[in-house]
Amino acid sequence: MRKHWLMAPLALACLGACTKGVPTVEDEVAEATRLAGEDFAESLFICDPKSTKIADMLAEGVEQLGPTWAFDNLAFLGNSFVGVWVLNTSDGLILFDAGIGEADARDNIVPGIKKLGLDPEDIRYVFVTHGHWDHYGGAAYLKQISGAQIGLGEADWELMARLEPGSLARAPYFGDDLADRPPPERDLVVADGTKIKLGDSEVTLLITPGHSPGTLSALIPVRQGDKTHVMSLLGGTAFPRSLEPTGFMGGLRQFEASVERLRQISQEAGADGTINTHPFVDGTTRKLGEIAAAGEEAGAANPFVLGSDKVSRYYSMFLSCLRAAALRPMGAIELPPMPSSPEEKGKE
Ligand SMILES: [Zn+2]
Repeated sequence: MRKHWLMAPLALACLGACTKGVPTVEDEVAEATRLAGEDFAESLFICDPKSTKIADMLAEGVEQLGPTWAFDNLAFLGNSFVGVWVLNTSDGLILFDAGIGEADARDNIVPGIKKLGLDPEDIRYVFVTHGHWDHYGGAAYLKQISGAQIGLGEADWELMARLEPGSLARAPYFGDDLADRPPPERDLVVADGTKIKLGDSEVTLLITPGHSPGTLSALIPVRQGDKTHVMSLLGGTAFPRSLEPTGFMGGLRQFEASVERLRQISQEAGADGTINTHPFVDGTTRKLGEIAAAGEEAGAANPFVLGSDKVSRYYSMFLSCLRAAALRPMGAIELPPMPSSPEEKGKE
């Protein structure tokens, strides 16, 4: 007997999540909550379209974080809304994301890299997770000072090329920085599965559409003392409002497929931790604080090392939230409020 094409994924999604066949929004949220447990409770806001977590943080004003070494060769710098991961290899630096604009790159990211004891001129690659201002904003400046190659997925190079100068997508209202953010000039087009070897490190880049049409995710090998780990970086977080891509955003269906694929590839690669360039999503802000508090204390456990089972559970939680979002009437899905015009900000 042939099953209806729609039933197969739904029935699969229902395993363990519900008892009556087709899962509801409530079933998926309950499953996400169960999967989160205490480990990922701070990430569950992604399951709640009414969450004010991001709006509250932006209203209070973002704080500069770090720079902080999470591992011997991987550091975070940036602010509590969005930042940059720096991988220090034996032959130069690889950055993931580029700061929120030229001013941020010049005044925060570059001084932060120096504070880590590194030379910003040694940046060889800047991989921008996606073509939204808060991720690509400082890329052109970083290229100017270092000659680094800027890499994005093809669809997000195209997305950036379509952004109108001075539009909200390029010049959002964000603190005092109202400047237009010209995207970097087209440079390295990253294909799915690309491996970039630099010195003693090799990162794997994956194209994971969903948050944006060509979101880039990565598997990043890191070291702490004589131990090695692999961090899984999901390149986009906020859920689009639509099932299918709309240009500026990706679609919920491809997002679900991409996260499931990243979950599996992360498992195969033995990834035992997650990182995100939005540090409030997966507890990065808290973990950086714990590392700073532990200081040189011998034997302190690294909060970024979760073990591969927990990495899988984190992405499974994420998937349940994506399914819940796809089941909600589209009009009810609200994007997490983004900084926008002063007028719109006044309305909140
Ligand atoms: Zn984005």
